[in-house]
Amino acid sequence: MLIVASGVRYCAPFTHRLLNYTSSSPISHFSSRFHYSRNHFLRMERYFSGSSVKKNNAMVGQLQRYGVISSQKVVEVMQTIDRALFVPNGASAYDDSPMGIGYNVTISAPHMHATCLQLLEEHLKPGMHALDVGSGTGYLTACFAVMVGPQGRAVGVEHIPELVSSSIENIQKSNAAPYLKEGSLSVHVADGRLGWPEHAPYDAIHVGAAAPEIPASLIEQLKPGGRLVIPVGNLFQELQVIDKNMDGTITVRSETSVRYVPLTSREAQLGGN
Ligand code: SAH
Repeated sequence: MLIVASGVRYCAPFTHRLLNYTSSSPISHFSSRFHYSRNHFLRMERYFSGSSVKKNNAMVGQLQRYGVISSQKVVEVMQTIDRALFVPNGASAYDDSPMGIGYNVTISAPHMHATCLQLLEEHLKPGMHALDVGSGTGYLTACFAVMVGPQGRAVGVEHIPELVSSSIENIQKSNAAPYLKEGSLSVHVADGRLGWPEHAPYDAIHVGAAAPEIPASLIEQLKPGGRLVIPVGNLFQELQVIDKNMDGTITVRSETSVRYVPLTSREAQLGGN
């Protein structure tokens, strides 16, 4: 089964003008031979030019110019965490497009990561607790850890054990490595629909896969004053922003139409059902 884009906005105008926007997972189409030589070339190019960080900053600059990012805090964290460390070797890390990471899923497009960080910014202050459900490559979990700092807590939950292992390796190479070492960042193999009660309640919860409906456990684990950002739907999906008010009531609004892979069971995901 070919998984099409996950973690993209439908019809976001800037995506057409950004580099190579595509709605399908680009690396799955390459022959393994071409894939190898392209990876090799890109790795060498990065090595010789030392331009990875510059290119990452250029990607962030592009997102600012097109109005996706207006927050300085989001600029800073996306500059701190180099996206190239989280995508499969040699893949076009800075293209504004989702990318296959195996197991029928993708890393979300940079504009979606930026959008979610910005929606959660006020709930990712130093000392706060953040949960990243469907943490995949670990990119957003790393961003959360940098934002909440060593006194805070960033938790990733992902149901594919191999992705948890590779996300830990990715984080270890990134500027979020000290948080992993000191224990304020952790990634766990679990069904994220149940949240992660150990470090609840959370100021911020992000879900990186589309749920047919909002999981009750995630609402329960949200702190009063906290915010949950989650794609909801099946074929048609909306990125929903759920605020838990101080009196425990819930306010829900839709931010934009999106397309994400499903939040589902491991069996359904691997079987492609
Ligand atoms: N936000 C991540 C990954 C997005 S893809 C990134 O950008 O790298 C969605 C992720 O959700 C996949 O890694 C998938 O394996 C995971 N996922 C899907 N259903 C899940 C569930 N029930 N529990 C935990 N993780 C789940």
